[in-house]
Amino acid sequence: MPIAENQPNSITRDVTIVEVGPRDGLQNEPGVIPTHAKICFVEALASAGLPIVEATSFVNPMRVPQLADAAEVMIGLRRAQGVHYPVLVPNGRGMDRAVAAGVEAIALFAAATEAFSTANVGASIAETFERFDPVAAEARRRGMWVRGYVSVAFGCPYSGDVEPAAVSHVAERLMALGCDEVCLADTIGTGTPAATARVLQAVLPSVPINRLALHFHDTSGNALANVDEALSAGVRVFDAAAGGLGGCPFAPGAPGNLATERLVEHLECRGLRTGVSPQGLRAAFAVLTPHLLRLRHPISA
Ligand code: MG
Repeated sequence: MPIAENQPNSITRDVTIVEVGPRDGLQNEPGVIPTHAKICFVEALASAGLPIVEATSFVNPMRVPQLADAAEVMIGLRRAQGVHYPVLVPNGRGMDRAVAAGVEAIALFAAATEAFSTANVGASIAETFERFDPVAAEARRRGMWVRGYVSVAFGCPYSGDVEPAAVSHVAERLMALGCDEVCLADTIGTGTPAATARVLQAVLPSVPINRLALHFHDTSGNALANVDEALSAGVRVFDAAAGGLGGCPFAPGAPGNLATERLVEHLECRGLRTGVSPQGLRAAFAVLTPHLLRLRHPISA
C-alpha cells in the first residue's frame, strides 16, 4: 500500500524521509558497531520522527560482516507503532532468515546496468529478478511492505552513463513484482538536476508518483539541488542517512548518502514538514559517536 496510507494519523508530513543510516551507512564503516548500539540507534531514529528506518540487511554475512547480526538487531528492536523497518533481502535464503527474525518490511535491490548487477550481486539483471520472484510472492502472502531499489540510476562506476529507458525498464519490473515503493538510487553521486528531470520523465509513466522515492548521494555536491528538482516534479519521498553515514565506496573520502539533518533543514526551510526532530536526530547519532570514533580513529587516545 502507498506509504501515505501507512503513516501514523497524528503526524502531518509533506515529505517522507526514509532513514537508511543503519543499513546503507553502517555497511560501509570499516568495522562492526556493537549490536546493542545499532538497536539503540534504530529506536532513537524512530523516536526522532522518522517513519521508515531501513534497519539492516540479510545479505550473506560473509560479504557484509558489518551487518552479520541482522537477526539479533531485528529480534532485539522495540518497534514503534506505524513505523516501517525494512531490511535488505537478496534471495530466498535471506528471506528465510528475515521471516524467522519477525521482519515485516523488506527491500529488494536491482541495478540499472548489467555491469553493476554482476559486480554487486554476482548475477545478471534477469537472474536477479528470478531470485526476487519467490521472495516477492512470499512477501505478498505475508502482507509485508516491499520496497524495490534501482541502483546506479544516474550513472554507473563500471559502464558510465545510464539510459533513462534502462532505469524505467527495471522500475517497471519491480512494480510488476508488487513493490509498494520503487526507489531510484544515485549510487555514485553523479546525478544532476537535469539528469533527475530526464530520469523522472522516463520512469513516471511506469511508477505512480506517490510510490516513487529518490536516493541521492552528495558526492558531487548536487544532492539538495536534485531533491529540489524532484520536488518540483511531485516526488515526496527521499532517502537520507543520519550524519551522512556511509561515505562513497566508489570515491574514498567523498560524501555519499545525503545527511538526514541537512535534508530536514533544507525541506523545513522551504516550509515542507518532515515530522523529524533535529534534536532527536542529534540524540540518535550521539548513540553511535563513540563507536564510530573507535572504528575510524583506532589509535587516538
Ligand atoms: Mg546510498
